[in-house]
Amino acid sequence: LFAGETEFLKGVVAMDGMPPDDRLEVCFAGRSNVGKSSLINALTGRKGLARASNTPGRTQEINFFTLADSHYLVDLPGYGYANAPVAVVEKWQRLLKQYLSGRATLRRAFVLVDTRHGIKPVDEEIMTLLDKSAVTFQVVMTKADKVKEAEQEKILDQVREKLAKHPAAYPELVMTSSEKGDGIPLLRSIIATLT
Ligand code: GDP
Repeated sequence: LFAGETEFLKGVVAMDGMPPDDRLEVCFAGRSNVGKSSLINALTGRKGLARASNTPGRTQEINFFTLADSHYLVDLPGYGYANAPVAVVEKWQRLLKQYLSGRATLRRAFVLVDTRHGIKPVDEEIMTLLDKSAVTFQVVMTKADKVKEAEQEKILDQVREKLAKHPAAYPELVMTSSEKGDGIPLLRSIIATLT
């Protein structure tokens, strides 16, 4: 799946701009700066692919990429910006709700969590929305290279404890470092084996 071409398809700001849900789909969500672009670039092996989503003005778009010709990889806008205007946040939440409940082919959401910080209240809001939308989600820990292994356990305990309260959570965590490449092959195979 990841040996083929990954192409940016389009960025959308409303449901009617979305491509038809005619193939398997996975999406990526996370707080701004969690390392989402870096992870998508590492997964697809294409540096700079997900950078478009980080340029100002495009941050509220849902970006669709095609994986080979068989899957969509969807980059949701980063959340939790300190100074985001309320109207922008509300618009985004509306679109996100529509997206999560409107895509029959969405097989899994990957919620990215910084290994240094663990799950924050804004992450929990997304997880609750995923529960309500009945979208199975899996937590991907990012930037694992920044935390010593002995210290990782404490954070992981917190994450597991919080996940236990979310019915849509898939229990297995994926530890990743986009910098070092750790966890990237595992994440690829998780996506490739979804049916
Ligand atoms: P996004 O806002 O979630 O798309 O985050 P980015 O991918 O732009 O990453 C935010 C910052 O974290 C950048 O400075 C990246 O270089 C850094 N970063 C991302 N992933 C890793 C990682 O695995 N290890 C380390 N050490 N830094 C990372």
